[in-house]
Amino acid sequence: MHNGLNVKDKLCRIGYSADDRCIICDSHSETQDHLFFKCSYNQQILKLMELRCGFPILVNRNMGTGMPAKVWTQRNNARVNNVLLRPSKVTEQIIAEVQRRIRGKIKHPVKSNDQVWLTKWGVL
Ligand SMILES: [Zn+2]
Repeated sequence: MHNGLNVKDKLCRIGYSADDRCIICDSHSETQDHLFFKCSYNQQILKLMELRCGFPILVNRNMGTGMPAKVWTQRNNARVNNVLLRPSKVTEQIIAEVQRRIRGKIKHPVKSNDQVWLTKWGVL
C-alpha cells in the first residue's frame, strides 16, 4: 500500500483541510497508518473478522487491498455523504466477498477435508 491517498493529514499539510482529525473516529490524526491499522473502526472490523474466522488476523503493511479498500470506501462515504456503515455490516460485506472468491476457485468434487472448513465458512 503506497502513501498516495489524500488522507486528512496530507490535505491539512497542503492547505486543503482545516484540520487533520480522522473522519471516522474524530480522535486521532487521519494518516494512512491510522486509518488502515489503528483506527477504532478498523480494529472493530478486525475483531469481528477474527471472531468469524476463529483465529487471529495478522495485519501488516503488505496485506491485500480488500479490507483497506472497504475502509477507504467507508471513510469517503462518511466524508461526502455523512454516512458510515456499522463495522458489523462492513465485516459481512468482506466475508461475502471472500466467500464469492473462494467459490470461484473451488475445484469439484470438493475433498472431504475441505468440506468441513468450506461449510463452516458458508461457502458450500
Ligand atoms: Zn480513526
